[in-house]
Order: sequence, then C-alpha cells, then structure tokens
Amino acid sequence: MSIIKQNVSRIMNLVASSCNQVHRLSTEVCPIVVTKNRSQDEVQEMYDLGFRHFAENRVEKLLERQEQFPQEDIIWHLIGPLQKRKVKQVINHIDLFHALDRLSIMSEIDKRLEQPLDCLLEINVSGEETKHGFSPEEAFSAYKESKQYEKIHVAGLMTMAPFEASDEEIRFFFSRLAQLAKKIEEKEKLSQPLQLSMGMSGDFPIAIQCGATYIRIGTSWFETEEE
Ligand SMILES: *Cc1c(COP(=O)(O)O)cnc(C)c1O
Repeated sequence: MSIIKQNVSRIMNLVASSCNQVHRLSTEVCPIVVTKNRSQDEVQEMYDLGFRHFAENRVEKLLERQEQFPQEDIIWHLIGPLQKRKVKQVINHIDLFHALDRLSIMSEIDKRLEQPLDCLLEINVSGEETKHGFSPEEAFSAYKESKQYEKIHVAGLMTMAPFEASDEEIRFFFSRLAQLAKKIEEKEKLSQPLQLSMGMSGDFPIAIQCGATYIRIGTSWFETEEE
C-alpha cells in the first residue's frame, strides 16, 4: 500500500472514532485536502482515492493548481489571507473562502463577485498578534455587517489554534469558536447551523470533538507519521 493510502486509512479511521466519541456522524465532517507544496502526482492520488475538496492558502498557488486539475467536480477552498488587489483574480474561481478576516475587504469582494459566494469569518480566538481575523468580541458585528452585502454569504466561522498550544488550550479555543457560532445562530434565528472550519494535521480529532464540520489537513495525508 502506498504511503498516501495508509495515511488516508489511518486519518479516516481517526475521523470516524473522533465522531463516535461525541456521537456525531462521520458524514458531518468534510475532510479538505490542503495541497500546498505537494506534487501533482500526490494530489492526483488523492483525487483518484475519491477526495474532491482541495485547498490552497495562496491565490497564485490555487490558480496554478486549478490549471493542473481542471476537473469540474473539484470543490476549491481558499484558506489563506486575501489581499485586496488579488480579490478579482480569484474570487470567482473558488467555492468557499475560509479567511474573511476584516471588514475592509468585504466591499471589494462583493463588488467583484459575479454570483453569491459562501465565506467563513476567520476568528482569532487565541488573540495571538500574528494571527489574522476578528476577535471573538467582533464576530457578531462582523456577521451583521456582512449581511449588507448581497453576494457575500457568511456560512460559518474558521479558526486556527496556535502552533504551540497544549491539547487543553486547543480544546478551549475550538470550543470557543463553536460557542460563538451558537450565539450567532440563536441571535439571528438561523435555520441552518453555521459551518465550523477548524482542525489541521495535528489537532483535527480535538476539532471534531468540538464540532468541526470542515477539517483542513495537509501534511498528514502525505508524510510518514513521526514517532
Ligand atoms: C497549511 C494549512 C493547513 C494544513 O496544515 P497541516 O498542518 O499541513 O495539516 C490548514 N489550514 C491552513 C489555513 C493552512 O495554511
């Protein structure tokens, strides 16, 4: 069995058992393949194994990747920060934008969009200065603000845990994101629950236990697990 196949089997088992632990269905969690820095063959193997959700964190890389993989059935996620001047290059080429991180970019996105786009508000739950995103306190008003724009559809929230955080801290941050989503759902009387994009290679089981609906995994699909 190839390394990738072994990893896929291990990761998907872990997704299933993490769901089980908190009585969720595995179908509630969508695994995204973060393809950054991977070869075309590696990404092709994931496609051949049936994965359809692909993500890049940089605009140029995403556009390059789409040239390599023109298949119509791929769902493209932009998961990294977007500069204003690059909005028009990419915004009509993606299916979900995970990193809506400031009010000042909303009008440009709305202006350039040819049709509505699902976006996630990026929340800086840990308050780290190096991280992008709205503070937890700003989340609700950012949600309200987004509703002024016809083509921006905020479908959920996204966060990243700090690199050095302990499992306990990570659990705290991910639960915080889930609570923020709940609060918005209640206040706005939303008929659909908000999506939660959280969890990467190192912390996706915790994210699933805390309610993640999208997990963004890169490294773990492709590399041998370190002991
Ligand atoms: C790179 C990246 C990931 C995936 O990280 P891994 O640790 O390789 O799984 C997830 N989310 C974002 C925003 C990233 O930039």
